[in-house]
Amino acid sequence: MNEIILIKNGELALKGLNRMTFEDILVKNIRRRISAFGNISVRKAQSTIYIEPKDEDYPFDPVLDAMRQVFGIAAFTRALAVEKDMDVILKAAPKYLENRLKNAKTFKVESKRSDKRFPLTSPEISRELGGALLAAYPHLKVDVHHPDEVIMVEIRDYAAYIHGEQIKGAGGMPVGSGGRAAVLISGGIDSPVAAYMMSKRGLELNAVHFASPPYTSPRAELKVKRLLQKVSGYSGTIRLGIVPFTEIQEKIGECCPEEYFTLIMRRFMMKIAERIAKERGCGALITGESVGQVASQTLPALAVTDAVVSMPVLRPVIGMDKDEIIEISRKIDTFKTSIEPYEDCCTVFTPKHPKTRPQLEKVEEAERALNVDELIDRAVEGTTFELIDPQTEL
Ligand code: ATP
Ligand code: MG
Repeated sequence: MNEIILIKNGELALKGLNRMTFEDILVKNIRRRISAFGNISVRKAQSTIYIEPKDEDYPFDPVLDAMRQVFGIAAFTRALAVEKDMDVILKAAPKYLENRLKNAKTFKVESKRSDKRFPLTSPEISRELGGALLAAYPHLKVDVHHPDEVIMVEIRDYAAYIHGEQIKGAGGMPVGSGGRAAVLISGGIDSPVAAYMMSKRGLELNAVHFASPPYTSPRAELKVKRLLQKVSGYSGTIRLGIVPFTEIQEKIGECCPEEYFTLIMRRFMMKIAERIAKERGCGALITGESVGQVASQTLPALAVTDAVVSMPVLRPVIGMDKDEIIEISRKIDTFKTSIEPYEDCCTVFTPKHPKTRPQLEKVEEAERALNVDELIDRAVEGTTFELIDPQTEL
């Protein structure tokens, strides 16, 4: 059986301006996402994207799952490609359409013949196929006004296509169409969700993770990579930078008032992430912060953190309740990994009484005890990078 996937213009999540560029990016992203599964062709013709396996024993289910994750697609259609011969169509269609027709009561057939050399007209194709389907499923009735199922056949350049089930896509915008951003990724629940959400708006992702060995374990780093791997199913390859953060945390612990530990640490994170992000051509930072969730996420605390960077900081979960964030993390399958109990560097030097209404001048004064620029230079220099995608061995 030669099953393929069609994405019609109406099934694209994007409309209007820049449509051509978006489609080109989308085609490239689809190719990248499914090329690992084998020999498959992805091409655009006559306002349709065709995804056609070239090998007989092609694993179609993994391709369908992968296609559900590609942003920019509102829906896609499975279809059977057959020879442009009415007898072949009449023979193949009843079996292929079984799932759609066995529980339906009414149907109609719509045909489209863009290859005008095909001997039958569209109404003739519809009539013949309708007859064959009625013969195969005697419980069915034709209803041209409100059918339960509309069966579509197209006669195109290379083949005839019998449309099967339509599947909901991931929506959003093709990754890369909105530029690039760097997500500050912890092992928690929120930041992978934040990364997914911004990727959905078309941003290509870089990631920055702060590790404080021996306070944090290699397992914590592995957890972050596994989280990013889940996100990469949607976003495509993510370049992860792991920043050595121990020295900075220890220096903060030695030299600064305890109530400012977290805030000063977060300011370091933002500055370092911004440096790395700029080197990679990113236009924004992304965090998983949500107002009021913890002491460092009050408005005054967020203002103090933002004061050290000039890049926009995107916080897509800022107005969400934890249970709403968890719902998304379950959907993208990061939740189970996020709740594994490995320490994040944030939990290493936590003050007993953090400031919830910090004043910028006081924080800046506390930071003067540190050689901030030197510490940042060393951390950036020590950062190691790797690429993570759905196929990376972890
Ligand atoms: P959760 O709140 O579920 O523990 P979280 O990822 O939101 O997870 P927080 O401690 O709330 O963790 O941190 C707020 C934000 O700061 C995170 O969303 C993330 O963007 C960033 N962050 C925290 N720890 C790290 C880290 N070790 N490396 C990089 N970014 C971090
Ligand atoms: Mg959080």
